[in-house]
Amino acid sequence: MSTTRTEAQALRHPEKQKNPDRPSGRKPEWIRVKAPTSKGYQETRDLARGLKLHTVCEEAACPNIGECWQKKHASFMIMGDTCTRACAFCNVKTGMPGALDPFEPENLAMAVADMQLKHVVITSVDRDDLPDGGATHFARVIEAIRFKAPQTTIEILTPDFRDKPGAVEIVVKARPDVFNHNLETVPRLYPTIRPGARFYQSLRILDRVKQLDPTIFTKSGLMVGLGEQRHELGQVMDDLRVADVDFLTIGQYLQPTLKHAPVDRFVTPDEFRDYASMARGKGFLLVASTPLTRSSYHADRDFEELRAAREKKLATTATAAE
Ligand code: SF4
Repeated sequence: MSTTRTEAQALRHPEKQKNPDRPSGRKPEWIRVKAPTSKGYQETRDLARGLKLHTVCEEAACPNIGECWQKKHASFMIMGDTCTRACAFCNVKTGMPGALDPFEPENLAMAVADMQLKHVVITSVDRDDLPDGGATHFARVIEAIRFKAPQTTIEILTPDFRDKPGAVEIVVKARPDVFNHNLETVPRLYPTIRPGARFYQSLRILDRVKQLDPTIFTKSGLMVGLGEQRHELGQVMDDLRVADVDFLTIGQYLQPTLKHAPVDRFVTPDEFRDYASMARGKGFLLVASTPLTRSSYHADRDFEELRAAREKKLATTATAAE
């Protein structure tokens, strides 16, 4: 007997089944994307399946999957497909994860080398069950990729490691090129949208990375359309700049299932442009703000821009000091 879509969703999110259905309304035309069918998409999917790798592109039902996978750009998700948290916005399966796969670092490094990726994005589920929150596994993955694919630049998108002592230090020591940790939303909405996390704890992670190694680029992302106000976004941008975060991404929140938090409103492309200019005015090295922006969307191209922006800033500072 085959499983229906509703039954499959109930298996992924058992804790949300008590929620009433909360439809978000019809998506505006600027959100709609084509179904993924290209040869490149199928090749990326086959490679990930063949090496038993998970991608956040599939697990989060990302709307950009057709475009990204066609270009062989995927965001790999390590430490399993089951998350110990149950955020109100996230489509990743909730439950008690299994043991870590000791071969995952090498398998992932092999995929990165096979795909000849210039830049790779690695994220993970939350592993609150592990004593270091998964920090050592992140470090192993970075080291394996450095060994097998030394030309590839590495971007990680981490959980908050539940503030476990030493976790951030372990990951920073492995020297990723970009350390991303998403704040996701404004502090007022944390109790309903990200109840297992604390806003200032997340902010401290980004601050700590910069203090430990200022050469690592730091990055964070926000979803909009959840009920946040413009002035609250401005405040979060200020907080991120105090932590010296380099790169901010802003994208439209989309509801994965009827049991997840509903979309409060669809933010217009003009408003995304307004948020981008507000963020640029606050001094970020780079800002990406469009309805379909996601943390890892165009990450390879953005990394080049980040590097160029830093060089330009350093050159300007040097000239001013002469
Ligand atoms: S935007 Fe990120 S998560 Fe979405 S398909 Fe592209 S790489 Fe994957």
